[in-house]
Order: sequence, then C-alpha cells, then structure tokens
Amino acid sequence: MIRTTSLDLDDNASLWAATCEPGPASPPLMTERTADVVIVGGGFTGLSTAIAIARRFPDRGVVVLEAKRVGNGASGRNGGMALHWVNGVDATSEERCKRLYAVTTGAIEKMRSTIAEHAPHVRFRQDGCLEVYTDAKRAEEAQQKTEKMAKWGLPVRWLAGEELRKVCDAEGAVGAVLDPTTGQLHGLDYVLALKGLAISLGVTIHEESPVRSIEEGRTHVVRTDGGSVRAPTLVLATNGYTPRLGYLADRVFPLHSHAIATAPLPLERWKELGWGAIAGFTDDLDRIAYATMTADGRLLFGGGGNAAYSYYYGGRTSRPDDGAAAFAFVHDVLKRYFPKAADVPLAQRWTGTLGVTMSRVCSMGVAGEHRNVLYAVGYSGHGVVLANLAGDVLCDLYADHHDPWKDLPFYERRMGWIPPEPARWLGYQVMTRLTGKSPRTYEVDR
Ligand SMILES: Cc1cc2nc3c(=O)[nH]c(=O)nc-3n(C[C@H](O)[C@H](O)[C@H](O)COP(=O)(O)OP(=O)(O)OC[C@H]3O[C@@H](n4cnc5c(N)ncnc54)[C@H](O)[C@@H]3O)c2cc1C
Repeated sequence: MIRTTSLDLDDNASLWAATCEPGPASPPLMTERTADVVIVGGGFTGLSTAIAIARRFPDRGVVVLEAKRVGNGASGRNGGMALHWVNGVDATSEERCKRLYAVTTGAIEKMRSTIAEHAPHVRFRQDGCLEVYTDAKRAEEAQQKTEKMAKWGLPVRWLAGEELRKVCDAEGAVGAVLDPTTGQLHGLDYVLALKGLAISLGVTIHEESPVRSIEEGRTHVVRTDGGSVRAPTLVLATNGYTPRLGYLADRVFPLHSHAIATAPLPLERWKELGWGAIAGFTDDLDRIAYATMTADGRLLFGGGGNAAYSYYYGGRTSRPDDGAAAFAFVHDVLKRYFPKAADVPLAQRWTGTLGVTMSRVCSMGVAGEHRNVLYAVGYSGHGVVLANLAGDVLCDLYADHHDPWKDLPFYERRMGWIPPEPARWLGYQVMTRLTGKSPRTYEVDR
C-alpha cells in the first residue's frame, strides 16, 4: 500500500525558538539508502525512540526524517510542563495511581539525568506544578483525592489559603494540588540535546526532508524529494501531523493551541504580581489554561477557553489566519488570573499542533499487515513526559518485548472513531459553541 502525504507545516515561532540557537542543520536526504529503522518526525517521540533503539541495538542503522528542523512540531512549541499521569485517565485505585505515577516519575527522572549527563545547559526547573481548582465542589473532591493519594505515599499536597497565595495568587483559585517533582523544560533546548545524543550514538538525522510517500510492506520505502529509505521497521513519530501522512485520520485530530509569553521580569517582581516560586500551573476547566515561568522570568500562558484552541477544516496543521482574536483571548485569561500583571508587555505569540484523541488518552503500539509499523500518538497536551517515555515503550515493542507495558492505558489502545469532514468540522463547531467544551469520550480507569 502506498500512502501519499499532504504536507502543511508552518514555521516555529514559539518562545523556545526565539530563545535558543538551533545550531547547524543536519543535511537533507539526497540518496537512496537502506536502514533497519526509519523514523518519521524529529520531535520528542522520534528522537527518544531513535536513542533508545540505538542504545539497545548499536549495530542497527536508525534514520530519522524530519520535514523541517527538529523540534518544529509541538516538542519545540509547548508550555514545557513536565507532568505526571496520562491525560484522559482518571485513575481511582491505589494500585493504578501508584503505577501511573511511578511510570511517569521514571520518565521525568530519565529526562533529568539525560540533561545532567549530556546537556547541562538545557533549561529545566523541577520545583513543582499546581493543578488549580476554580470551583468549590471540584476543589473539595480534588482535596479528598489528594489526601488519599498522599496516604498511598505519593508526594502530592493540597494547598489553600495563604499557603496557596504565597506560590500562586491566581484570581478565583479555591485550592490546588501541588505535585512537587514536576517542572518546566525548555522544549527546544531538550530536543536539540536529544538530537546531539542521537547523533553521538550513530543515528542519522536528515532535516528539511519532508516525507512525501510511504510504501508499506515487509520492507517499507519512505520517499522524500531527494531520496528514499528502505527499512523493515517504520516508526510514526508525527503526533498531530499523522493524518497528513495518510495514517489514523479517523482517530487523531490536530488541535491548535494558542500560546503567548511576556517579556522577562525578575522573580521578585513576579511575586508581587501573584506568582511565587513554582514552575507552572494548569486549571480545572475542560479547555484548560496553563502557565509556566521560564528561568529568565517570562510567563508563558496558553489556553483558557474555546477561543484559545482551534480545529481547522480538513485537519490543517498550519494556522490559516493571524490568530489575533485567539491571542487576545489568551491574554485576557492571563489578565483575569493575574490582574496585577495586566501591563507586563507580551514578547511572543505562537500556535502549535496537538494530536488529540476522543478520550484524550494517547496510544502506543504496533500496526501494519506485517506488524512492523510502530506508532505513538495522541498525547493531547501531556506529551512532554509521555512522548519522551514513548522512546522506551517503542524500543521494547521493536524488541518484541511487550510485557512491561501491557497493563498501561496507552498500550495498543484503541482510539475512538472521529467522523470525516464535513461532519467533523460541523460537530466540533456545534459542540464547542453550545457547551463551551470540546468533544470527548470519558473513560474512567480502563
Ligand atoms: C502550544 C502547546 C503547548 C503544549 N504544552 C504542553 C505542556 O506544557 N506539557 C505537556 O506535557 N505537553 C504539552 N504540549 C504537548 C507536547 O508538546 C506534545 O504532545 C509532544 O511534544 C509531542 O511530541 P511528538 O514528538 O510526538 O510530536 P511533534 O513534536 O509534533 O513532532 C512531530 C514532528 O513530525 C514532523 N513531520 C510532520 N510531518 C512530516 C513529514 N511528512 N515528514 C517528516 N517529518 C514530518 C514535524 O515537523 C514535527 O517536527 C503542548 C503542545 C502545544 C502545541
């Protein structure tokens, strides 16, 4: 089967891109070559998978094809919050909570040690993030759950009153869960660190090499404008762009998150404006607002309502307009939470493509007639940790070693069906406008 891709990629205008030197580009693919593994996509998923396979199988040839520069997608445009849990999974039992927390702790720890060993310049602060509750009933439930989790030995803590105001004086915050081992990562710093590490392990990376077609078989043929790679294993590491490659178009939809960042201010000044010494927060709304504080004192803010997220007809992965109204909306949400910061000037605004599933739970597995297509997609806004974890998962699946992951909610998870256009676009508009929420299916603790 031959799948042709329809590319639709814009440039990365994120805060991370503006505050990071990308270094020399890897050369585009200009030959016909073979490899053991060909990976499409140079974000966290693609690079973490390349590294894991190159480490475990040093004799295998691994090639990564990236349409633009590595980190061009969400990995280089995110809020950088390195969080626990799997988005979309409401774990209720002690065993499940501990397992999910342990798996995501392992992934955060691995990122921390990769930085310490290979790239100490990567900007990463690990002083905790808050989940802020703005509704009294939801806050009460969250407090009870947090206290239960604390009894089970998880290091989470409920904050309210003066204790909360000291670290985050967000208007309307009733209480918050502090998860102290989470943090904030400079997305592009880390992508570039992974790129360097992958190359040092013998991985070949071709940038500016958009994949134009994929001929699936026992040996796949992956073609770009300049050449092709023949390989018995294909890895789809294209998250929100995957439907554009002709895969999972009825399972994953690209949702655009609008984000802004302020000019830098000293931390002392931020404390006066309502932000203390923590890396970030998300709120409790369906269309969450998220905020993180960079090492140089910029507040990065995104989401906060319907207008901050867009689905474009036909699953476009670039923004068709200047997004002015959406950015103004996000800025208003920032000002609503931190009114005293209303006059801090903005320095950056950008969008990025999230890969979203109906249940918001990601899926990692093996597909294809010959069971030789690996994929990890649909992190739905939680991919900083999960897309880095994906490297270990996909490496195990490549080695036909499934057992360590079988009990996890994302393992070969069946993603819910999403109708084709025009029903998809219409359904999205109607649902978001009538309810203020995005379409989703709720699944409690599979
Ligand atoms: C604005 C924003 C804020 C976010 N904030 C957070 C956060 O705070 N915390 C969190 O956990 N998650 C967050 N996320 C989500 C997280 O960043 C992603 O889930 C994660 O980066 C996905 O990584 P990935 O490698 O799978 O995909 P991507 O980083 O999207 O990489 C896919 C790559 O594939 C390339 N590509 C596409 N088509 C082709 C082709 N035909 N040929 C070759 N290459 C191709 C793209 O150029 C891209 O580089 C955010 C996302 C956005 C957009």
